[in-house]
Amino acid sequence: MPKFKLEYLWLDGYTPVANIRGKTKIMEFDSFPTLDQLPEWGFDGSSTQQADGSDSDCILKPVAVYPDSTRRNGGLVMCEVMLPNGEPHPSNTRAGIPDDPDAWFGFEQEYFLYEDGRPLGFPKHGYPFPQGQYYTGVGFKNVGDVARQIVEEHLDICLDAGINHEGINAEVAKGQWEFQIFGKGSANCADQMWVARYILLRVCETYGVDVEWHCKPLGDTDWNGSGMHANFSTKHLREVGGKEYFEKLMDRFKENMEEHIAVYGPDNHMRLTGLHETQAIDTFSYGIADRGASIRVPHSFVNADYKGYLEDRRPNSQGDPYAIAGRILKTINEVAV
Ligand code: ADP
Ligand code: MN
Ligand code: MN
Ligand code: MN
Repeated sequence: MPKFKLEYLWLDGYTPVANIRGKTKIMEFDSFPTLDQLPEWGFDGSSTQQADGSDSDCILKPVAVYPDSTRRNGGLVMCEVMLPNGEPHPSNTRAGIPDDPDAWFGFEQEYFLYEDGRPLGFPKHGYPFPQGQYYTGVGFKNVGDVARQIVEEHLDICLDAGINHEGINAEVAKGQWEFQIFGKGSANCADQMWVARYILLRVCETYGVDVEWHCKPLGDTDWNGSGMHANFSTKHLREVGGKEYFEKLMDRFKENMEEHIAVYGPDNHMRLTGLHETQAIDTFSYGIADRGASIRVPHSFVNADYKGYLEDRRPNSQGDPYAIAGRILKTINEVAV
Protein backbone atom coordinates (compact mmCIF):
# COMPACT_ATOMS: atom_id res chain seq x y z
CA MET A 1 0.00 0.00 0.00
CA PRO A 2 1.50 3.34 -0.99
CA LYS A 3 2.14 5.95 1.64
CA PHE A 4 0.46 9.21 0.69
CA LYS A 5 1.83 12.63 1.60
CA LEU A 6 -1.24 14.63 2.50
CA GLU A 7 -0.74 18.34 3.00
CA TYR A 8 -3.47 19.49 5.39
CA LEU A 9 -4.15 23.18 4.63
CA TRP A 10 -6.00 25.74 6.74
CA LEU A 11 -6.41 29.47 7.26
CA ASP A 12 -4.72 30.92 10.33
CA GLY A 13 -6.05 33.55 12.74
CA TYR A 14 -4.25 36.63 11.39
CA THR A 15 -6.36 39.68 10.61
CA PRO A 16 -7.38 41.35 8.43
CA VAL A 17 -5.96 38.70 6.10
CA ALA A 18 -5.51 35.08 7.02
CA ASN A 19 -2.41 33.20 5.86
CA ILE A 20 -2.64 29.71 4.51
CA ARG A 21 -0.77 27.10 6.56
CA GLY A 22 0.02 23.50 5.87
CA LYS A 23 1.61 20.41 7.36
CA THR A 24 2.07 16.94 6.01
CA LYS A 25 0.35 13.82 7.26
CA ILE A 26 1.58 10.44 6.00
CA MET A 27 -1.12 7.82 5.57
CA GLU A 28 -1.44 4.50 3.76
CA PHE A 29 -4.24 3.94 1.27
CA ASP A 30 -4.79 1.49 -1.61
CA SER A 31 -5.40 4.41 -3.94
CA PHE A 32 -5.79 8.17 -3.76
CA PRO A 33 -8.05 8.82 -0.75
CA THR A 34 -11.56 10.22 -0.93
CA LEU A 35 -12.68 12.93 1.46
CA ASP A 36 -14.56 10.54 3.75
CA GLN A 37 -11.40 8.45 4.23
CA LEU A 38 -9.49 11.40 5.65
CA PRO A 39 -9.43 11.75 9.43
CA GLU A 40 -9.55 14.97 11.37
CA TRP A 41 -6.18 16.18 12.60
CA GLY A 42 -4.90 18.89 14.94
CA PHE A 43 -2.35 21.67 15.26
CA ASP A 44 -0.92 24.10 17.77
CA GLY A 45 -3.23 27.09 17.56
CA SER A 46 -1.00 29.15 19.85
CA SER A 47 1.45 29.50 16.94
CA THR A 48 -1.16 30.71 14.45
CA GLN A 49 -3.09 33.25 16.54
CA GLN A 50 -5.88 30.73 17.01
CA ALA A 51 -5.45 29.69 20.67
CA ASP A 52 -3.66 30.39 23.94
CA GLY A 53 -0.62 28.32 24.82
CA SER A 54 -2.41 26.91 27.85
CA ASP A 55 -5.17 25.44 25.69
CA SER A 56 -3.64 25.23 22.27
CA ASP A 57 -5.31 22.38 20.39
CA CYS A 58 -7.31 23.24 17.28
CA ILE A 59 -8.96 20.66 15.06
CA LEU A 60 -8.53 20.33 11.29
CA LYS A 61 -11.63 19.03 9.55
CA PRO A 62 -11.00 18.02 5.90
CA VAL A 63 -13.51 19.55 3.48
CA ALA A 64 -11.90 18.97 0.06
CA VAL A 65 -9.01 16.91 -1.34
CA TYR A 66 -6.97 17.43 -4.51
CA PRO A 67 -4.09 15.47 -6.06
CA ASP A 68 -0.66 17.14 -5.73
CA SER A 69 1.36 16.29 -8.83
CA THR A 70 4.51 17.89 -7.41
CA ARG A 71 4.95 15.12 -4.85
CA ARG A 72 4.98 11.38 -5.32
CA ASN A 73 1.64 10.17 -3.88
CA GLY A 74 0.82 13.72 -2.86
CA GLY A 75 -2.49 15.27 -1.88
CA LEU A 76 -3.71 18.71 -0.82
CA VAL A 77 -6.39 18.59 1.87
CA MET A 78 -8.32 21.81 2.46
CA CYS A 79 -9.59 21.97 6.03
CA GLU A 80 -11.88 23.99 8.25
CA VAL A 81 -10.55 24.88 11.71
CA MET A 82 -12.77 23.62 14.53
CA LEU A 83 -12.72 24.02 18.29
CA PRO A 84 -12.24 20.91 20.44
CA ASN A 85 -15.97 21.05 21.27
CA GLY A 86 -16.81 20.57 17.59
CA GLU A 87 -17.95 24.16 16.95
CA PRO A 88 -16.34 26.17 14.15
CA HIS A 89 -13.35 28.23 15.34
CA PRO A 90 -14.03 32.00 15.24
CA SER A 91 -11.45 32.29 12.42
CA ASN A 92 -13.38 29.76 10.31
CA THR A 93 -15.02 31.87 7.58
CA ARG A 94 -16.20 28.84 5.59
CA ALA A 95 -18.57 27.29 8.11
CA GLY A 96 -22.11 28.53 7.74
CA ILE A 97 -21.79 30.61 4.56
CA PRO A 98 -24.86 30.49 2.33
CA ASP A 99 -24.28 27.80 -0.30
CA ASP A 100 -26.08 26.35 -3.27
CA PRO A 101 -24.63 24.10 -5.97
CA ASP A 102 -26.64 26.09 -8.53
CA ALA A 103 -24.90 29.34 -7.50
CA TRP A 104 -21.90 29.58 -9.83
CA PHE A 105 -18.90 31.79 -9.20
CA GLY A 106 -15.99 32.85 -11.37
CA PHE A 107 -13.20 34.63 -9.48
CA GLU A 108 -10.53 36.60 -11.34
CA GLN A 109 -7.53 36.63 -9.02
CA GLU A 110 -5.02 39.39 -9.76
CA TYR A 111 -1.67 39.52 -7.97
CA PHE A 112 1.86 40.88 -8.26
CA LEU A 113 5.01 38.80 -8.30
CA TYR A 114 7.60 40.51 -6.08
CA GLU A 115 11.37 40.23 -5.83
CA ASP A 116 13.63 42.33 -3.58
CA GLY A 117 10.64 44.33 -2.37
CA ARG A 118 9.41 45.47 -5.78
CA PRO A 119 7.35 44.04 -8.62
CA LEU A 120 9.24 41.47 -10.69
CA GLY A 121 10.86 43.32 -13.58
CA PHE A 122 10.77 46.78 -12.00
CA PRO A 123 14.11 48.62 -12.05
CA LYS A 124 15.85 49.22 -8.71
CA HIS A 125 14.87 52.89 -8.82
CA GLY A 126 11.83 54.44 -10.41
CA TYR A 127 9.45 52.70 -12.73
CA PRO A 128 9.62 50.68 -15.95
CA PHE A 129 7.91 51.93 -19.11
CA PRO A 130 4.45 53.33 -18.51
CA GLN A 131 1.57 50.88 -18.51
CA GLY A 132 0.27 49.98 -21.92
CA GLN A 133 2.32 47.07 -23.25
CA TYR A 134 2.06 44.77 -20.24
CA TYR A 135 -1.60 43.67 -20.26
CA THR A 136 -1.69 40.37 -22.20
CA GLY A 137 1.81 41.30 -23.37
CA VAL A 138 4.59 39.18 -24.78
CA GLY A 139 8.34 39.62 -25.05
CA PHE A 140 11.17 39.96 -22.57
CA LYS A 141 10.75 43.71 -22.13
CA ASN A 142 7.12 43.17 -21.15
CA VAL A 143 7.13 40.00 -19.07
CA GLY A 144 10.78 39.31 -18.27
CA ASP A 145 12.21 35.79 -18.22
CA VAL A 146 10.83 34.13 -15.08
CA ALA A 147 7.25 35.25 -14.63
CA ARG A 148 5.76 33.15 -17.38
CA GLN A 149 7.59 30.08 -16.11
CA ILE A 150 6.02 30.60 -12.68
CA VAL A 151 2.59 31.24 -14.11
CA GLU A 152 2.69 28.19 -16.39
CA GLU A 153 3.96 25.91 -13.63
CA HIS A 154 1.19 27.15 -11.36
CA LEU A 155 -1.40 26.52 -14.05
CA ASP A 156 -0.24 22.95 -14.68
CA ILE A 157 -0.19 22.01 -10.99
CA CYS A 158 -3.69 23.48 -10.53
CA LEU A 159 -5.04 21.61 -13.57
CA ASP A 160 -3.43 18.38 -12.30
CA ALA A 161 -5.20 19.00 -8.99
CA GLY A 162 -8.55 19.29 -10.74
CA ILE A 163 -8.84 22.98 -9.94
CA ASN A 164 -11.11 24.52 -12.51
CA HIS A 165 -8.97 27.26 -14.01
CA GLU A 166 -10.69 28.99 -16.89
CA GLY A 167 -7.78 31.14 -18.01
CA ILE A 168 -4.71 33.20 -17.20
CA ASN A 169 -3.34 36.51 -18.46
CA ALA A 170 -0.63 39.07 -17.89
CA GLU A 171 -2.11 42.20 -16.31
CA VAL A 172 -1.84 45.96 -16.73
CA ALA A 173 1.20 46.50 -14.48
CA LYS A 174 4.58 44.89 -15.04
CA GLY A 175 4.88 41.86 -12.77
CA GLN A 176 1.09 41.64 -12.37
CA TRP A 177 -0.85 38.55 -13.46
CA GLU A 178 -4.31 37.04 -13.23
CA PHE A 179 -5.89 33.62 -13.13
CA GLN A 180 -9.59 32.79 -13.26
CA ILE A 181 -11.32 29.96 -11.41
CA PHE A 182 -14.90 28.88 -12.00
CA GLY A 183 -16.80 26.72 -9.51
CA LYS A 184 -20.31 25.63 -8.63
CA GLY A 185 -21.27 26.43 -5.05
CA SER A 186 -19.75 29.14 -2.88
CA ALA A 187 -17.65 26.86 -0.64
CA ASN A 188 -16.46 24.71 -3.55
CA CYS A 189 -15.31 27.65 -5.67
CA ALA A 190 -13.66 29.35 -2.70
CA ASP A 191 -11.88 26.12 -1.65
CA GLN A 192 -10.36 25.94 -5.12
CA MET A 193 -9.26 29.59 -4.91
CA TRP A 194 -7.52 29.13 -1.56
CA VAL A 195 -5.74 25.99 -2.75
CA ALA A 196 -4.69 27.77 -5.97
CA ARG A 197 -3.28 30.62 -3.87
CA TYR A 198 -1.37 28.07 -1.79
CA ILE A 199 0.05 26.40 -4.91
CA LEU A 200 1.18 29.75 -6.31
CA LEU A 201 3.01 30.64 -3.11
CA ARG A 202 4.72 27.28 -3.10
CA VAL A 203 5.78 27.46 -6.76
CA CYS A 204 7.28 30.89 -6.12
CA GLU A 205 9.51 29.62 -3.28
CA THR A 206 11.83 27.95 -5.79
CA TYR A 207 12.31 31.19 -7.72
CA GLY A 208 13.00 33.40 -4.70
CA VAL A 209 9.86 35.33 -5.60
CA ASP A 210 6.96 36.35 -3.36
CA VAL A 211 3.33 36.89 -4.19
CA GLU A 212 2.05 40.34 -3.23
CA TRP A 213 -1.69 39.99 -2.74
CA HIS A 214 -2.26 43.56 -1.52
CA CYS A 215 -4.84 45.44 -3.59
CA LYS A 216 -2.67 48.54 -4.14
CA PRO A 217 0.96 47.62 -3.52
CA LEU A 218 2.26 50.67 -5.40
CA GLY A 219 0.08 53.01 -3.36
CA ASP A 220 -1.28 56.27 -4.68
CA THR A 221 0.46 56.12 -8.06
CA ASP A 222 -0.85 55.68 -11.57
CA TRP A 223 -0.21 51.93 -11.36
CA ASN A 224 -3.23 49.63 -11.35
CA GLY A 225 -4.26 47.81 -8.21
CA SER A 226 -5.26 44.16 -7.93
CA GLY A 227 -8.82 42.95 -7.73
CA MET A 228 -10.61 39.67 -7.48
CA HIS A 229 -13.69 40.34 -9.59
CA ALA A 230 -16.50 38.00 -8.58
CA ASN A 231 -18.66 36.83 -11.47
CA PHE A 232 -21.82 35.12 -10.30
CA SER A 233 -25.05 33.56 -11.46
CA THR A 234 -27.86 31.54 -9.92
CA LYS A 235 -30.26 29.14 -11.59
CA HIS A 236 -32.88 31.90 -11.54
CA LEU A 237 -30.51 34.44 -13.08
CA ARG A 238 -29.49 32.00 -15.80
CA GLU A 239 -32.88 30.56 -16.64
CA VAL A 240 -35.50 33.20 -15.74
CA GLY A 241 -33.82 36.57 -15.18
CA GLY A 242 -35.78 39.54 -16.54
CA LYS A 243 -35.29 43.27 -16.18
CA GLU A 244 -37.63 43.60 -13.21
CA TYR A 245 -35.84 40.93 -11.18
CA PHE A 246 -32.46 42.37 -12.15
CA GLU A 247 -33.45 45.84 -10.94
CA LYS A 248 -34.76 44.47 -7.64
CA LEU A 249 -31.48 42.61 -7.22
CA MET A 250 -29.41 45.74 -7.90
CA ASP A 251 -31.54 47.71 -5.39
CA ARG A 252 -30.68 45.11 -2.78
CA PHE A 253 -26.98 45.22 -3.65
CA LYS A 254 -27.15 48.99 -3.24
CA GLU A 255 -28.86 48.75 0.16
CA ASN A 256 -26.23 46.25 1.30
CA MET A 257 -23.29 48.21 -0.12
CA GLU A 258 -21.46 48.58 3.19
CA GLU A 259 -21.94 44.94 4.18
CA HIS A 260 -20.40 43.91 0.87
CA ILE A 261 -17.46 46.31 1.12
CA ALA A 262 -16.82 45.03 4.66
CA VAL A 263 -15.85 41.59 3.30
CA TYR A 264 -14.39 42.62 -0.06
CA GLY A 265 -10.83 42.84 1.24
CA PRO A 266 -8.75 45.28 3.33
CA ASP A 267 -7.52 48.69 2.16
CA ASN A 268 -10.03 48.69 -0.68
CA HIS A 269 -10.41 52.49 -0.33
CA MET A 270 -6.91 52.66 -1.85
CA ARG A 271 -8.09 50.76 -4.90
CA LEU A 272 -11.76 51.75 -5.34
CA THR A 273 -11.09 55.38 -6.20
CA GLY A 274 -13.17 55.78 -9.34
CA LEU A 275 -9.96 55.59 -11.40
CA HIS A 276 -8.16 52.59 -12.95
CA GLU A 277 -11.34 50.78 -14.00
CA THR A 278 -13.03 51.02 -10.60
CA GLN A 279 -16.03 52.73 -9.03
CA ALA A 280 -15.47 54.79 -5.84
CA ILE A 281 -15.79 52.81 -2.60
CA ASP A 282 -18.75 54.88 -1.32
CA THR A 283 -20.80 54.69 -4.52
CA PHE A 284 -22.83 51.81 -5.89
CA SER A 285 -23.50 51.67 -9.61
CA TYR A 286 -24.08 49.17 -12.35
CA GLY A 287 -23.65 49.53 -16.08
CA ILE A 288 -23.62 47.59 -19.30
CA ALA A 289 -20.02 46.72 -20.20
CA ASP A 290 -18.97 49.48 -17.76
CA ARG A 291 -15.63 48.73 -16.12
CA GLY A 292 -16.01 51.87 -14.04
CA ALA A 293 -19.14 50.51 -12.33
CA SER A 294 -19.41 48.48 -9.12
CA ILE A 295 -21.25 45.78 -11.05
CA ARG A 296 -20.60 45.26 -14.74
CA VAL A 297 -23.49 43.85 -16.73
CA PRO A 298 -22.18 41.91 -19.74
CA HIS A 299 -23.75 42.69 -23.14
CA SER A 300 -24.67 39.00 -23.32
CA PHE A 301 -26.83 39.43 -20.20
CA VAL A 302 -28.92 42.25 -21.64
CA ASN A 303 -29.13 40.61 -25.05
CA ALA A 304 -30.54 37.45 -23.43
CA ASP A 305 -33.34 39.48 -21.80
CA TYR A 306 -31.45 39.96 -18.53
CA LYS A 307 -30.34 36.36 -18.14
CA GLY A 308 -26.84 35.10 -17.41
CA TYR A 309 -24.11 36.24 -15.03
CA LEU A 310 -23.03 39.53 -13.49
CA GLU A 311 -19.59 40.78 -12.47
CA ASP A 312 -19.06 42.41 -9.06
CA ARG A 313 -15.82 44.34 -9.65
CA ARG A 314 -15.33 45.46 -6.06
CA PRO A 315 -13.77 42.43 -4.29
CA ASN A 316 -10.02 42.83 -4.05
CA SER A 317 -7.07 40.52 -4.46
CA GLN A 318 -6.66 39.99 -0.70
CA GLY A 319 -10.32 39.27 -0.05
CA ASP A 320 -11.49 35.98 1.44
CA PRO A 321 -13.42 34.11 -1.28
CA TYR A 322 -15.53 32.29 1.35
CA ALA A 323 -16.77 35.60 2.77
CA ILE A 324 -17.19 37.19 -0.67
CA ALA A 325 -19.19 34.37 -2.26
CA GLY A 326 -21.22 33.94 0.92
CA ARG A 327 -22.10 37.65 1.04
CA ILE A 328 -23.14 37.75 -2.63
CA LEU A 329 -25.41 34.74 -2.17
CA LYS A 330 -26.85 36.21 1.05
CA THR A 331 -27.93 39.35 -0.80
CA ILE A 332 -29.34 37.33 -3.71
CA ASN A 333 -31.33 35.20 -1.26
CA GLU A 334 -32.89 38.36 0.20
CA VAL A 335 -34.62 39.11 -3.10
CA ALA A 336 -37.86 37.27 -3.78
CA VAL A 337 -37.99 35.48 -7.15
P1 ADP B 1 -12.93 40.00 -17.73
O1 ADP B 1 -11.45 40.10 -17.52
O2 ADP B 1 -13.39 40.51 -19.07
O3 ADP B 1 -13.73 40.61 -16.61
P2 ADP B 1 -12.59 37.07 -17.42
O4 ADP B 1 -12.66 36.23 -18.64
O5 ADP B 1 -11.28 37.27 -16.79
O6 ADP B 1 -13.35 38.46 -17.76
O7 ADP B 1 -13.53 36.45 -16.31
C1 ADP B 1 -14.86 36.15 -16.51
C2 ADP B 1 -15.28 35.07 -15.53
O8 ADP B 1 -16.70 34.89 -15.58
C3 ADP B 1 -14.67 33.72 -15.82
O9 ADP B 1 -13.81 33.39 -14.76
C4 ADP B 1 -15.85 32.77 -15.84
O10 ADP B 1 -15.58 31.65 -15.03
C5 ADP B 1 -16.97 33.57 -15.20
N1 ADP B 1 -18.29 33.15 -15.67
C6 ADP B 1 -18.67 32.92 -16.95
N2 ADP B 1 -19.95 32.50 -16.99
C7 ADP B 1 -20.40 32.48 -15.71
C8 ADP B 1 -21.64 32.13 -15.09
N3 ADP B 1 -22.71 31.74 -15.80
N4 ADP B 1 -21.73 32.23 -13.74
C9 ADP B 1 -20.68 32.65 -13.02
N5 ADP B 1 -19.49 32.98 -13.54
C10 ADP B 1 -19.34 32.91 -14.87
MN1 MN C 1 -10.22 39.02 -16.21
MN1 MN D 1 -7.99 41.60 -14.70
MN1 MN E 1 -13.24 41.17 -14.67
